[in-house]
Amino acid sequence: MAVKQQDLLRDMQNCFNHLKVEENKTETVSERHRNESINIGCTEFPDYSEEVRSVLKAGWLEKTPPNSGVIYQRRWVQLDSEYLRYFQSPKEVYSKRMISLRCVDKVVGVGDLKFELHSQNRTFLFRADKTEEINDWVCCLEKALSDNRNSIESRNLFFKRGSVDFSFEGYLELMSPRIKVYTIISRDKLYLFKNREEHFQGVGVTDIDMRMARVKDGGKRSFTLTTPYRTFSFLAESESEKQRWCDSLNECVSRSLSCDGVCESLWRVVSNQQCADCSALMPEWASINLCVLLCEKCAGVHRSLGQNVSKVRSLKLDERVWTDDLIRVFLQLGNAKANTFWGANIPPSESLCVNANDEHRLQHITAKYVHGKYRKYHTLYGQQEALDSALCKAVQSSDLLEILTLLHCGADIKCHTGIPDFPTPLSLAKRSGQSAQAELLTQNLNTESFESVLKDVSIQSRRGYLFKPASSSRPITEHKNKADFARRWSCLEGGVFSYYKNDHSKKCGGMKTSDIICLSVNSPGKHVYEHTFELYTEEGRGYLFGADDANTVRNWSKAISMAMLPTALFDICGPCDRLGRLRCVEGSHGIGWFCLSGFKLHVLLENTVQTIDLRKLLSLSHSDSDGSMVLVWRGGTLHVLTDRRPHFVGWQTCIQQKSGAGDQPLSHQQLTELDVPVTIDRCLDHVTRYGLLSPGIYRKNGVNSHTTKLLERFHNDARSVSWSESDFSVDDVANTLKRFLREVKDGVLNGQDNAKSWLKAADLEDKTERIYYYQNLLSNLPIVNRATLKALTHHLLSVQHLSNENQMTKRNLGIVFGPTLFQTDGTDVKEPRVVEELIQNYCSIFNVSESELLRQLNLTTAALNKHKSERPSSKTTSSIICAVDLERIEEGSEVLVQVGANMTAVELVSEVLDHKGVKPANEDFWSCYEILEKEEMDRMLHYHEKVSPVYFSPGLQCHLLVKKNHYISNILKYLEMMEENVCKSGTLRVCEVKSERSKNYCSRYCELSGTTFRMHKELQNSPCEREWPVKELKVYNGYRSKLHSPTPWGITLAHDKQQWYLCCDNEDEFIEWTATFFSIQYDGDIWPSPLVMQSHNS
Ligand SMILES: [Zn+2]
Repeated sequence: MAVKQQDLLRDMQNCFNHLKVEENKTETVSERHRNESINIGCTEFPDYSEEVRSVLKAGWLEKTPPNSGVIYQRRWVQLDSEYLRYFQSPKEVYSKRMISLRCVDKVVGVGDLKFELHSQNRTFLFRADKTEEINDWVCCLEKALSDNRNSIESRNLFFKRGSVDFSFEGYLELMSPRIKVYTIISRDKLYLFKNREEHFQGVGVTDIDMRMARVKDGGKRSFTLTTPYRTFSFLAESESEKQRWCDSLNECVSRSLSCDGVCESLWRVVSNQQCADCSALMPEWASINLCVLLCEKCAGVHRSLGQNVSKVRSLKLDERVWTDDLIRVFLQLGNAKANTFWGANIPPSESLCVNANDEHRLQHITAKYVHGKYRKYHTLYGQQEALDSALCKAVQSSDLLEILTLLHCGADIKCHTGIPDFPTPLSLAKRSGQSAQAELLTQNLNTESFESVLKDVSIQSRRGYLFKPASSSRPITEHKNKADFARRWSCLEGGVFSYYKNDHSKKCGGMKTSDIICLSVNSPGKHVYEHTFELYTEEGRGYLFGADDANTVRNWSKAISMAMLPTALFDICGPCDRLGRLRCVEGSHGIGWFCLSGFKLHVLLENTVQTIDLRKLLSLSHSDSDGSMVLVWRGGTLHVLTDRRPHFVGWQTCIQQKSGAGDQPLSHQQLTELDVPVTIDRCLDHVTRYGLLSPGIYRKNGVNSHTTKLLERFHNDARSVSWSESDFSVDDVANTLKRFLREVKDGVLNGQDNAKSWLKAADLEDKTERIYYYQNLLSNLPIVNRATLKALTHHLLSVQHLSNENQMTKRNLGIVFGPTLFQTDGTDVKEPRVVEELIQNYCSIFNVSESELLRQLNLTTAALNKHKSERPSSKTTSSIICAVDLERIEEGSEVLVQVGANMTAVELVSEVLDHKGVKPANEDFWSCYEILEKEEMDRMLHYHEKVSPVYFSPGLQCHLLVKKNHYISNILKYLEMMEENVCKSGTLRVCEVKSERSKNYCSRYCELSGTTFRMHKELQNSPCEREWPVKELKVYNGYRSKLHSPTPWGITLAHDKQQWYLCCDNEDEFIEWTATFFSIQYDGDIWPSPLVMQSHNS
């Protein structure tokens, strides 16, 4: 078939070449003199132009020549999506003029039945004989212009305001009419311009489709271009110039034709001979990221979905896209294979036929690719880590369908492979020499991920048998026997869920889906029926349904959740374990929709969906008095109100369970932002602070009962554990870490089988090979295990670095941590070796830059040496080395200071200045600031304030910075002026930040007096909305960086992980409020007396 088509085309061309083409010379010449336009007449060839150029509007108009502007000329004017062209007559193929819409700024009706087209450099005036006609033109042009501006990618790159995509250009002389033209070969067309300037202005004469053209050398600098409609004769400046033109034109012709080669090769796969969507024959288009060949109509729909969904390219016109690798992808996959994924479940009633109307086509294609309604889910769907690691494996194989499936079932194309030199799946594919895979990945780099399933009415209905316990007073959560269940015909339809004795009998019961407030899919085995789900209604009743197989329960719960949930949430969360609505303090309606899926809690409040990883909560508290729940995470707070109905207890239990449990494997534990279990993080932190210099750290065991006690506390609720230095010795804590690692389910190495692979790797003789295997094993670990191993190794490296002090060499650490990591009794000598090698090759195995590591280690060493020279006698100390920045935070401005537990801010300031040799001038006020890393906020430490609790405040990435304080003198002056009576009130714009997205400022009347800060909704006398004791607030200068604040004068109040932003109108306001806060917080004692300063500076 393909061959036939091509032959047909060739025959046609030969035929055209022999046609004798006449030119209308007389008219051309007169035209040229009259209005300096070029007329390219040709034999009449009806319908050509309209067919090829999908014309938006065409008609007769009169136009003035650009310069003289007196005599109107009647022209056939044609508008398509890219150009406005005008012709001598409707039968012409080659225009007299073509104006690129890209270069048209606006179109204006100018009265007198006229309109003008304005481009940057010129104006074109047209006249019609009817007002309606003018209005219609203006309207069509305006729409075309706006469409053109909005189109992401112009199909014709040619007229992009001078930026041209062409292969050859230059001046030629056109023989008849005899005139010089500026000529450009671009893609498959030859464009003619009057001159180079006009090309940049976007005004051309005409374009010639080279696919239909033939080039012929005419001798003596001349050559001809024969098209079916006309022959153009050109004269080049020289013989050699002519040769170059002929070569380029011939190349252009053959390139345009060889595009047929792409079709030909792709159509060799039989299923590629039909459109993947509607089965139309010989599809000439393709979506190069979704890997399907398409007919023109379907391609149009795909294009309308946007580049980020479907990247549509022509097999014929976009020749450059079709690299050998891309062709290979399409040959290997083919429409049939691709459709085993995309179209695995198309019901006959929803299939698409060739003659489908536009609406149906759009509906089908959107469902198929945007919502993924018919696709075959990957077996790992919903398990992110497993999907990602499957992707990393697949890219090294030749299975393209697996990659396509993974990419469109949620695998992260940018996931980390765990291999330092080939960190992305793309780099891994390239390394494995899988160039087709690499091409497929490349085409999908910017594809939007397909997470949503269509919320479709047809899926919201379902029928079938379920088992239901007879209504009884026993709560449904209690264990049931088989005898308790009865078979019920169940039906979900039109927003009602009902059940019957059998499919003919009278209804036994049911509920509206809008009355269902909670759906819970039970874990298997809770009742005698292996698979069950529960429904809870608004009125407080609970229902239990069971089935023998998981699929039935999954399908029912999917249908019911679809009927229950708002689309916004359903599209995001997909299948989940528990969902429903709960009452919240936040949000104006006080109702939030919740979906629990694994450890992720998706919450829809006020049209915004937030996803919370419950393991990473900063705190989860239940109020004893009313049972309400407060969830605090980085980025927000959520206050769920208690509910007496039975579904609420279930929510409490589930959220509690999913927020991390001490008796579970590492990835089920409470986690830090960096995916390290909180228990491990706290222990490492403690030993780093107090134990690096302690001889025999990790070797000594501490007091056993202390370790057991601490471990138990971590086990119960790790994030709530805190202790002071005196409660536990560093050895107690070190031993707690070891015991945790030794006892945690599956260990850091994720089970004995995996642990054995590490030992096998240690056996390899070649070091490079060994490292490579370690990298590979590391990349196969779950994210949490990987992060834990990295944090642990980094820590051991710092211990080892100070082995002169603590005697813990690499070897000693290996002996201690080998059996700990492998969870054995320590008989295998390879275990310590693995630990040693991890420490030794930390940078290459964990992909850490050597210079960064070196810098960190040097800081520690330098600090240590300084400390030794100053106090040679004392070896053990409770002080810690802190890096404090001077004047600004950047590399090199750090000063290392030994910070004792009782060091105050004023002492720190003088130490830092002293260290850097800075002599403070009298008028300088130097202060120590707490800088919150990610947020552009700082807080001046009170001079009496102890430094170490600030530096080590848990959960905050905080820097200490010593810099001049620019406000303090004004603050002191203001307070002096206020004398005893320090208070302040007034209206401020206030923003309470609940999440990253909420940034609404409202005016509040604020009052600061006595020891309290109050906020009133309106006036002073209106009831107080909120109040805080000022001494419990942390007062920061500035705003969280993501917040768009109305003025730069901001104050941030932090209280118990919640934050409020106060926005002052000007600097004076800011100073007055800040001064008042300080004065109340520190009882008027804000700045040290000169005496104190002197004693510290001397
Ligand atoms: Zn089609």
